[in-house]
Amino acid sequence: MFYSSLSGMGLASAKGQAAVDVDEARADASEAKSEADVLKHDIDRLMMITEALWSFLKKEHGYSDDELAKAVGAIDLRHSGAEKDAQEKCPNCGRMVSEHRRLCLYCGQPIPQSLFEP
Ligand SMILES: [Zn+2]
Repeated sequence: MFYSSLSGMGLASAKGQAAVDVDEARADASEAKSEADVLKHDIDRLMMITEALWSFLKKEHGYSDDELAKAVGAIDLRHSGAEKDAQEKCPNCGRMVSEHRRLCLYCGQPIPQSLFEP
């Protein structure tokens, strides 16, 4: 017979368990959404702080966006442990990013991955 495990516990019991499973799934989803909302808030705050600091550096010290992009690229390479020749060109903005990145650091474009890369 199909669903032999359900016939063993009785249909009413199986329905009760399904309702409990649904409630638990809803609670897990709600908790995950709350955590995502907190992270989004933190990211928004950090983005504003970064933008403010960058505006000071540009205005007070004359740094350019290109200099910032070069520094970010160097940090990206250092953090990923990649060699300079292990970079991919973003198909959208043309900047170089570590081949370990799945998204471009600068514009968010997905970076094509080799089928044989982990
Ligand atoms: Zn890009």
